[in-house]
Amino acid sequence: MSDLRDLYQDVVLDHGRNPRNFRTMEQATVKVVGHNPLCGDKLVLYLKLEGDVVKDVSFEGAGCAISMASASLLSETTVGKTRAEIEETFAHFHEMLTGGVEHTVDTGALGKLAVFQGVCEYPTRVKCASLSWHTMKAALQGGEESITTE
Ligand code: ZN
Repeated sequence: MSDLRDLYQDVVLDHGRNPRNFRTMEQATVKVVGHNPLCGDKLVLYLKLEGDVVKDVSFEGAGCAISMASASLLSETTVGKTRAEIEETFAHFHEMLTGGVEHTVDTGALGKLAVFQGVCEYPTRVKCASLSWHTMKAALQGGEESITTE
């Protein structure tokens, strides 16, 4: 398992250092600010929604490696998906993070997002890994311009 754990950390470090889709979006149809005061992570999520489909995702902000890597992987994972597909992925992701060490989830459905499985051992980091997803959920539901995790 230790080799696997190292691999997962490499992916998180890579995305944390070189986040994908880290840019503003002029044509964004939705923009939501997410804030995790526990760690100080703050990000702005931009979406281009066409009907029910997310056509483009980008973000800006600053935070720890886990929060940046999570937002980066979120942007890669959610492009081209529908609201329902993204909410289902978030439900699996959230279950993986909060289910506890003994809890096993079907990580096959999560693809690359399974790299955050180890985070469930560190409850204080769960908010870091889930911030971008809570922000995405708020963006998809509309109405809220900023959210704060508690
Ligand atoms: Zn953090």
